Amino acid sequence: MTRATVDVAIIGAGAAGSAAACVIAPGASVALIDRIATPQWRIGESLPGAAHRLLKTIGAWPRFVAAHHGPALLKISRWGSDRTVELDPMRDPDGAGWHLDRARFEADLRATALDHGAVFHHARVRTVARTPTGWSLSLDSGTVVAARRLIDASGRRSRLLAAFGQHKLVVDRLACVYARIAAGSRYDPVTYTHAVESGWWYTAVVPGGERLVAYHCDSDSPALRATLKEGPLAAARRVPGLAEAIGQIERSRATSPEVCAANTIARSAAGHGWLAAGDAAMALDPLSSQGLFNALATGLEAGDATLALIAGDDAATPRFAERMRLIWQAYLRHHALYYGMETRWPDAEFWSRRQVDTGSMR
Ligand SMILES: Cc1cc2nc3c(=O)[nH]c(=O)nc-3n(C[C@H](O)[C@H](O)[C@H](O)COP(=O)(O)OP(=O)(O)OC[C@H]3O[C@@H](n4cnc5c(N)ncnc54)[C@H](O)[C@@H]3O)c2cc1C
Repeated sequence: MTRATVDVAIIGAGAAGSAAACVIAPGASVALIDRIATPQWRIGESLPGAAHRLLKTIGAWPRFVAAHHGPALLKISRWGSDRTVELDPMRDPDGAGWHLDRARFEADLRATALDHGAVFHHARVRTVARTPTGWSLSLDSGTVVAARRLIDASGRRSRLLAAFGQHKLVVDRLACVYARIAAGSRYDPVTYTHAVESGWWYTAVVPGGERLVAYHCDSDSPALRATLKEGPLAAARRVPGLAEAIGQIERSRATSPEVCAANTIARSAAGHGWLAAGDAAMALDPLSSQGLFNALATGLEAGDATLALIAGDDAATPRFAERMRLIWQAYLRHHALYYGMETRWPDAEFWSRRQVDTGSMR
């Protein structure tokens, strides 16, 4: 058994964990722990232009620029009416966002954290226990990490802190069925969102030429199983307007359909000796395209709060918790506004479930 003693242990080296490590590592020792050695392709590629501020703050901007992620120059949506609405970044003071090469994006964030002095542990955290001086984390590599402070950045499935007072609120049952299709060398800078009676579609091309076609509906909906069986590409082609956006690409070039949870989950974001950031604090509806931005922003804030706590500022914990509560409230308002715009199918279960007054969740 190997032992490592650090000021801060961070569980998860995704966007949230790496952002937190970038902030903390110059001022305190950090163990950044992830069960995945090298980030792989994952669904979730839209990053808004405002993220440049966060990437610059954590020192990740030079690597980000060098990666040449695809520009997201136009959003086209059919949402709330049959009319097509176009939104271009000319009206956004932060300019265009990106369609990310997600694996590269995460690898670059991780590399930036290591540049700042964080030490990466490739291992799964099996158990977390309190000690008189902080925490003891048992890793499946056999290493035991002793830390004064803990940040949970382990994503939407986070459960390690449930035993230490972390409460969980599951808001809905959104799920996503998706496939990737080799779209050749043609890059399309347009993001399409398209509401239908049983849910909504999303399609975009990522750097490298693959088109992602994704359908979102409730996990208990028959439409989920039907789309999984037929394949998202074939199902999308039957949707007028969406078929034209996708264009002529061969079905044989599509990956097998996959399904994943995409529901909104909130957890308490701070407790005695720990903070949570990114999806571990709040996993947002992919409609918002804010998950990665939120992971960077809350990771950065968790990093700042942790440094303040190490310096003896105990008020940093309730301050951080209050910030997270405000972000959550703002998210719920936007969520209610966007789903409330779609009134074409008042009797459809997917939409009526989302026309609720979210006041009770605030
Ligand atoms: C269908 C879908 C589409 C999405 N589309 C977008 C999009 O277009 N734009 C966007 O911004 N967001 C999108 N998101 C959300 C986005 O992917 C997440 O918000 C983002 O990944 C959160 O980052 P994170 O660092 O908090 O968590 P994660 O990215 O989940 O990282 C958590 C890390 O913790 C590690 N980990 C977990 N448990 C352990 C353990 N016990 N021990 C060690 N390591 C552990 C994992 O390996 C992982 O690397 C989408 C999500 C879904 C479901």
